[in-house]
Order: sequence, then structure tokens, then C-alpha cells
Amino acid sequence: MQFHNPHSEVYVPDGSPADLALLRTTHLAIGAHPDDLEIMAWHGILECFGKSDKYFTGVTVTNGAGSPRDGVYAHYTDEQMQAVRRVEQKKAAFVGEFSAHVFLDYASGAVKDGKNAHVVQDLKQLVAAAKPRVIYTHNLADKHDTHVGVVLRVIRALRELPADQRPERLYGCEVWRNLDWLNDQDKVVFDVSAHENLAISLVGLFDSQIAGGKRYDLATLGRRRANATYWESHATDVASSVIFGIDLTPLLTDTSVDPNRFIRSFIDRFAEEVTARIAKLA
Ligand SMILES: [Zn+2]
Repeated sequence: MQFHNPHSEVYVPDGSPADLALLRTTHLAIGAHPDDLEIMAWHGILECFGKSDKYFTGVTVTNGAGSPRDGVYAHYTDEQMQAVRRVEQKKAAFVGEFSAHVFLDYASGAVKDGKNAHVVQDLKQLVAAAKPRVIYTHNLADKHDTHVGVVLRVIRALRELPADQRPERLYGCEVWRNLDWLNDQDKVVFDVSAHENLAISLVGLFDSQIAGGKRYDLATLGRRRANATYWESHATDVASSVIFGIDLTPLLTDTSVDPNRFIRSFIDRFAEEVTARIAKLA
């Protein structure tokens, strides 16, 4: 498989041929940076972990060059940071028993450029080869431009594929902005209580990001715990760890729906719920 960037790579932890590793994929996650998938798509990793009939493949779209750095990484060049982050992502793919991890190696600017067709072409090629049942990516209300660039390219790539090559489900998940604010009927609730030890390990492997001064490991586990506890006010906790998602599949079933109008409808329903409660209790 030939992608646009010369340093793109398909890493297969168990050493199987790359084509086979993609073909057996049932759950695919597409994120902007190394570590995004371990934060937002842990449900997919968990669904496939230790299973012989389900396989998780990760895709990282950017090269991760622009990240902040501190400690032992303080004097690293952008090239050295890219290399470190790729190794960290490979460690996570190994520990998480991924079928494959694909590095597309784009600069952030290319992903944020709506006119750049290469990202869309690479994603189409990948999805056509893997034919996953489920795809996880960023959500449209994320506040990181590169993340929103990725979800928009994913939607475009899937819409350009024939309908029978699209996944059964497309989910937008939490990284830079959680989805606790969604009305409960609009939430997809992923119970990710199992294997908490692995969840901690996977996010913790991205040392260059955490040593850069950001405790993504603690914050991610804390968010999941908070989601589980604050989800329902009148019931006891049935899950100890929850990730929220938005079901983006309607954007694939009806390809005429504008993604901007689609996410706006969730925000409008949230606004209506808040104002209706105040009106009722005033
Ligand atoms: Zn990211």
C-alpha cells in the first residue's frame, strides 16, 4: 500500500504481513496525534484486546512535530520529537495488541487545509483495505483545530467511498473537550471499566507528552471516572470508567447533511434542555 508521504509506515506488532493486518481489522481508530487513540478510542482497543475474532487498527494522521517539550526532551529538535513519538506509539500498539498502527506522517498544516486532497485519498485507501465495522475518530465539537481537521477529512473520505465500503458505525470521541455536556439521549456511552491497569499503562507510555508538563494519564483516567459517576444522578455507579461519544453515522447514511449543521443540532438541543429546566423551576 502506497501512501503520499515517504515516511508513512504500517507497523504490525505481531509481525504479520501489513495487508493481512489491515484486512483482519474490525475496529479502526483515526486520530490526529500519537496518544489521541489511547485517550479517545480506548473502547475499540478494549473490544479487541485478547480476542481472536476482533482486531483493532490505529491511524495517526500527523507526525506530531509541534508538541511542547521539557525534561530529557527539552532540547530535542522537531525531527527528534517525531522519532520519539513514533516509538511511543509503537510501544502502545504492542502493549494494546493492535493489529496494526498506520503512521500517515502529515504536518498539522496539511490536515487543517481543507483543499489538501492527499489526506482524504490516504484515508480512503486505508478504509477500503481494512473494511472496519466500526470507526472511532475526533468529535466535531473538539476545540483543537487539527482534531476537527481530521474528523472532517474522515467524513469526506467515507462519503467518497461506495456505501458498501463504509463502516456500520462512526463515532466521534473525547480528547480536547469532553462530551459530558451532551443531552443524555444524544450520548453514546462506552463502558470501559475493564482492564483499568492497561488503560493506565497505555496513556502513560507517551512519556514525551507527559514529561512536557501535561498529566494526560491522570486527566484521562479522571475524566472517565467522572463520566461514570456524574452520568446519572439517581442511580449508583454501574461502571467505574466511561467514555462518551457522538454517533456520526447519520452523516454517512445521508451524505447531504452538513457536518456544521449536524453538530449544531446537538448544541441546540443542549440549549433547549438548559433553558427548559430553568423555565420550569423559576
Ligand atoms: Zn491530539
